[in-house]
Amino acid sequence: MQDDRYRKCMELVEEDKSVVAAASRVPYYPLAVKRGRGAEVEDMDGNRYIDFLSSAAALNTGHCHPRVVEAVKEQAEELLLYTAVYMYHEPLVRLSRRLCSVTPGDFRKRVIYGLSGSDANDGMIKLARWYTGRSKIIAFQRSYHGTTYGAMTLSALSLNMRRRMGPMLPEVYHFPSPDPYRTPVPMSEEEAARYHIGRLEEAFANYIPPEEVAAVIVEPIQGDAGLVIPPQGFLQRLRELCDEHGILFVSEEVQQGFGRTGRWFGIEHFDVVPDAVILGKSIASGMPLSAIVARAEIMEQWQPPAHCFTCAGHPVGCRAALATLDVIEEEGLVERSERLGARAMQELGNMQEEFELIGDVRGRGLSIGVDLVKNRATRERNTEAAAKICYWAWQNGLILSFFSGSVLRIQPPLVIAERELDTGLRIIRSAIEAYLRDEIPDSVLETVKGW
Ligand code: PMP
Repeated sequence: MQDDRYRKCMELVEEDKSVVAAASRVPYYPLAVKRGRGAEVEDMDGNRYIDFLSSAAALNTGHCHPRVVEAVKEQAEELLLYTAVYMYHEPLVRLSRRLCSVTPGDFRKRVIYGLSGSDANDGMIKLARWYTGRSKIIAFQRSYHGTTYGAMTLSALSLNMRRRMGPMLPEVYHFPSPDPYRTPVPMSEEEAARYHIGRLEEAFANYIPPEEVAAVIVEPIQGDAGLVIPPQGFLQRLRELCDEHGILFVSEEVQQGFGRTGRWFGIEHFDVVPDAVILGKSIASGMPLSAIVARAEIMEQWQPPAHCFTCAGHPVGCRAALATLDVIEEEGLVERSERLGARAMQELGNMQEEFELIGDVRGRGLSIGVDLVKNRATRERNTEAAAKICYWAWQNGLILSFFSGSVLRIQPPLVIAERELDTGLRIIRSAIEAYLRDEIPDSVLETVKGW
């Protein structure tokens, strides 16, 4: 692609390719980010974009929220790091208190920190095994939990995350997760919930002794699978199964947490209280931080140094997280997510009525997926359309991506202005129209890989 509008960006991308490993990237288009404010991003060439990706749902408070930046600056002047493995610091204690109070469950809790969603999932596997004295873990097909060994083993969404890297962690069992839009055979939501719980019950009766299962680790809404929302009843029944067999129920909130879905945490849509939650991404508005928050009795007896990283819970990250919690509360971002999400769903629903290409629109709050299909009857994924539409959107001022081969990912910062949201949605409409007029060349498919 030769285009003067993106000259500096393209030069950087070329240089990047010569020194950075490709395995760490999922390419869309050559956007080299220079700065960001709120829901807006500027690239190295001065082009501006509305951001519908929020750095992979890691910036619910938007880019460089002044409160967060202020907290980071203040803390950086005072103390960048003293490892919490050996010494204590106040931001860590204050944050732990806040996390215990904001997460679901009216019981005593303890927090342990990390630096990525992946390591928190690994920690959870270790903790669950240690606490229960059991080895088996249940996870779900098409879930994404990260790329360290434990998190990668839990994930079941990409062969490139498994191929030639085995053996994976032993004793992790995957079950199909209900996808109301793509059921194995036509069935109602209630039937889908019952069918999928049935797969687990059958396993517990035949080949997985339930008393050997330590934990079920589940995304309340499967993010990278394409925002798949389980039918009501499924997670409740799963919780009951856990209770029947003394299995820990863990809600993996890395992507859906901190107001993304119009609730503080995704699991709160399903009337289930988990024994532990896994937190990451938006927790600290861009600083690397993750956490496991679990019932105190689960965490209390865990012996040091079973799970500690030198930089885990570093002061700057904790201050950024405290500022993030303040912003979410004081700016009413949870309610804002619900309200703006409903507005976006309305407009995307209108588009679905107009364009056969849109098979399904689903979401909670500002966590919305637009599933593009080749044919509404077969529901075959339309990867080519998704890739071309994202490319066109980029060229017209919108950061848009897709997951699961066909699902446009609508996850803007929760601080996005209504007019920015409306403009972003208008760009999606125009991109779809351009695609349907066959105006987006096949050559863009060499650039946009997506996932
Ligand atoms: N869990 C979920 C649900 C995620 O979406 C992600 C990141 N996409 C992770 C875990 C991994 O987090 P990280 O990339 O910070 O390791």
